[in-house]
Amino acid sequence: MTATIIDGKSIAEIVRADVAKRTAALKVKTGVTPGLAVVLVGADPASQVYVRNKHKQTLEVGMASFEHKLPDTTPEADLLALVAMLNARADVHGILVQLPLPKHIDSEKVLRAINPDKDVDGFHPVNVGRLSIGEPCLTPCTPSGCIILAKSAQPDLKGLDAVVIGRSTIVGKPVAQLLLREDCTVTIAHSRTRDLPSVVRRADLVIAAVGRPEMVKGDWLKPGAIVIDVGINRVPTADGKTKLVGDVAFQECLSVAGAITPVPGGVGPMTIACLLKNTLEATERSLGLTT
Ligand code: NAD
Repeated sequence: MTATIIDGKSIAEIVRADVAKRTAALKVKTGVTPGLAVVLVGADPASQVYVRNKHKQTLEVGMASFEHKLPDTTPEADLLALVAMLNARADVHGILVQLPLPKHIDSEKVLRAINPDKDVDGFHPVNVGRLSIGEPCLTPCTPSGCIILAKSAQPDLKGLDAVVIGRSTIVGKPVAQLLLREDCTVTIAHSRTRDLPSVVRRADLVIAAVGRPEMVKGDWLKPGAIVIDVGINRVPTADGKTKLVGDVAFQECLSVAGAITPVPGGVGPMTIACLLKNTLEATERSLGLTT
């Protein structure tokens, strides 16, 4: 068997095209342009690339993009004041504070200061709570992307045995909640799980979010399983350069899985697409157009 490779790049394009279409229709209907504010503190090179991509893609779908770049010496109080100002602005429907923040700033305090209805990252405790009790809410972007990719391979996930490897608040726990919403039977495995290969072997759907290069081996998989690889790991190559690999040994798993995401080009492109989807949904909700 050779697995279907799930093309995250083209699926993200489809999501963005749908967001662009709905954004245009919303503008015609209400005169409102969805606005996303992104706050970057400091000059972390990876964060700068993410923020640049977010800005570009926000404009491409027809939304307004407000960038706030602050020096890494910015006092926490100034950042909190900026968040309060963005909370109050009617033309800002989504607020994203790029992590990591400099060490002198309490990230939790800043994330909690964001109005939950504008929390397009879905990290505010109110949204975490709403997700766990099954209320409509803004859901974290990478986990939402994982579900869209899994459903591209199998539209109805109901009843599947799903194993999530990793229990972080950013990926593992929220993706497990989203899988419950899809009526999967969910197991969350983590660093203290005993006999991980046998836990993974019973899964129809595996979501790996660990941060360990190529940890999931081909013989850990049930034949035909859907494999979503969230991991992004930079490893050295023989010629002294580096390359990106996921948490799944892709080549080995290709001959066992039913469908699998590559790294890069799998989960990665979905994150910004889902951020834009959240911004549109936050705008619609603010206008009373959805619950
Ligand atoms: P994290 O370090 O916060 O969490 C890792 C989890 O893996 C922990 O819950 C830990 O218990 C578990 N773990 C560690 N070693 C293990 C082992 N040997 N066996 C089983 N479980 C083990 O990481 P995170 O923020 O959840 O990110 C995970 C990976 O996903 C990273 O590679 C990260 O770069 C990537 N990531 C990608 C995207 C994206 O594609 N947009 C977004 C977020 C994270």
